[in-house]
Amino acid sequence: MTEITCITPIDGSVYATRPVASRADVAARLETARTAQRDWAARPLAERIALVEEGVARLDRVNADLVQELAWQMGRPTRTGGEMGGVRERSGYMAGIARRVLAPEVIEDDAKFRRLLAREPVGLVLVIAPWNYPFLTATNTIVPALIAGNAVVLKHASQTPLAGERLAQAFAHLPDGVFTNLFLDHATTAKLIAARSFGFVNFTGSVAGGQSIERAAAGTFTALGLELGGKDPGYVRADANLDAAVDTLMDGAFFNSGQCCCGIERIYVAEPLFDAFVEKSVAWVSKLILGNPLEQATTLGPMASRRFADTVRAQTAEAVAAGATALVDKGLFPADTGSTAYLAPQILTGVDHSMRVMTEESFGPVVGIMPVRDDEQAIALMNDSRYGLTASVWTEDPDVGQSIGARLETGTVFMNRADYLDPALTWTGVKDTGRGAALSHLGYLSVTRPKSYHLKRL
Ligand code: NAP
Repeated sequence: MTEITCITPIDGSVYATRPVASRADVAARLETARTAQRDWAARPLAERIALVEEGVARLDRVNADLVQELAWQMGRPTRTGGEMGGVRERSGYMAGIARRVLAPEVIEDDAKFRRLLAREPVGLVLVIAPWNYPFLTATNTIVPALIAGNAVVLKHASQTPLAGERLAQAFAHLPDGVFTNLFLDHATTAKLIAARSFGFVNFTGSVAGGQSIERAAAGTFTALGLELGGKDPGYVRADANLDAAVDTLMDGAFFNSGQCCCGIERIYVAEPLFDAFVEKSVAWVSKLILGNPLEQATTLGPMASRRFADTVRAQTAEAVAAGATALVDKGLFPADTGSTAYLAPQILTGVDHSMRVMTEESFGPVVGIMPVRDDEQAIALMNDSRYGLTASVWTEDPDVGQSIGARLETGTVFMNRADYLDPALTWTGVKDTGRGAALSHLGYLSVTRPKSYHLKRL
């Protein structure tokens, strides 16, 4: 591959092309990054924090352009206002805890011994980012990695090449080489990882992509953070606030056209609430406006590519052929002609776990809803998945929410909310959703290594 191409989902035309970095260019830029990292790590922490915060502010200043570019690159409606609210919140939190988390832990310091446990940067951090939240997913690692004294190399998704460039511009005030954006193909990325070029690689994307990265790193002992796919469930108990559950779970399922790592993809509802929940959900979804993401009225944009829309179409058609009922009137969404990235939202009932739409990641605007008898059945169904990123439990009782949560195989338990990353809590997954810990104080552990100092006075 010599060029990467971004096809816009708005009209299927070519929106951007960029040359793939040559081997010589990659080698030279990594060498610059290695040199720059040593000086960067030697700077006082307060200086690094201030410079990284300035980078976030520089990104924020061009948010109006980012919002337009996001619509063109991956179809997110401009009315959503972009990602900078979350980027500011998470970056601010990570900057705020840095002094405490990165300070050496002094075990003993007296006439005889000075013993301390320090955290040091791992060197070069490679961030491989996806298109679905191109700024949020990338900055989750970029910000703590830079603050901790690493140099960062970013390989952004081919669907969102401008996001990589925008991040590079935002951090262009850092010394040359501290932040490097590279247009890399998969083969070169794998070779660099296999050659031990990085101290830590954070990959956010598909399970298949994560497996390739793990294979590339095999035997190198390179530390990996793998934030992969999900099939996140919602469970509405009989004591739930029905209207709040409908609002939040529908938003969780359909925001960003369902292309959220922690989007709600399957819902289990206590039998007494099932009919009302379904009826209100269908009414909620029927009000969405599918269309050109550049238009202010549009609340549901196209999926990022026709290929993704076709996957969801196939899952939905298979489920219907196997007996599921599609409840949302497609006629309300004329922008869906059946052959583009524009896909009408859909709610399915009469579904079960023999159907791919209830077990495989859809990553699109469809959700299946099943009635459940009790907590036991709901827990069993929620855990019947190869994924585990988040689960959203709806109940009025926090003790019940927590005790159900304790039995769920998942990275995050939500009660009465969904689809949100709390920067003070760790973003992590179980099973095929991957490994590692982003955000929170644990996020700093991924981008640093421990170093022990045992100093004896004679
Ligand atoms: P993807 O195809 O795996 O791509 C993600 C990123 O990885 C892109 O930059 C892609 O580059 C790169 N990539 C993929 N395979 C690679 C390989 N073998 N070598 C080097 N780079 C490789 O994923 P996607 O479809 O774009 O993203 C959606 C997926 O991400 C969903 O499964 C979603 O659940 C997951 N996700 C998870 C989280 C989380 O926190 N757990 C957050 C967001 C998204 P190219 O674009 O150049 O192929």
